Amino acid sequence: MTANDDLKALVRTIPDFPKPGIQFRDITTLLLDPRGLSETVGRLAALQRDPIDVVAGIEARGFIFGAAVARELGCGLLLIRKDGKLPGATIAVDYALEYGSDRIVMHEDALVPGQRVLLVDDLIATGGTARAAMRLIRQAGGIVSSATFVIDLPELGGADALRAEGVDVTALMAFDGH
Ligand code: AMP
Repeated sequence: MTANDDLKALVRTIPDFPKPGIQFRDITTLLLDPRGLSETVGRLAALQRDPIDVVAGIEARGFIFGAAVARELGCGLLLIRKDGKLPGATIAVDYALEYGSDRIVMHEDALVPGQRVLLVDDLIATGGTARAAMRLIRQAGGIVSSATFVIDLPELGGADALRAEGVDVTALMAFDGH
């Protein structure tokens, strides 16, 4: 039994979603559990050692945990969204997917240059999404000091890639495979 096995047991695995070969780690079951939700947020917040100014949540599941962790830490929340959803002037970063590419955006005036940002998402796999978010925040003048995830898939190397960029990466639990 390791530290967060109680929370890991609340994550449901759906095989072959959204396509064959993917083991989808479904956090909706964790969210439905009152203690699971509360403990997840509390433990994510407790992992944070460095002072931060702003929490950045990545659409969509990163908004859930990002907002709750921001409240725990007494910070505001920055939304990192898919393109076309934010009403104000935005900056964007394009990143490669297995097939094609995607774009994430944030409001160009959301950060004061030099602010320290904690990046939050539900899961890190290849790290493509998180690294794109990191580039976006850096483009806005922010410092991505740390990133935290409920779930890490270490075999896909995303957390290590982010660490290589100087980010302090933490996660509550890991799953084998992808
Ligand atoms: P990546 O950019 O490869 O690190 O993928 C991370 C994003 O894709 C996160 O926002 C996750 O919500 C989602 N994701 C990737 N793989 C999985 C998986 N096996 N189960 C659930 N979500 C996943």
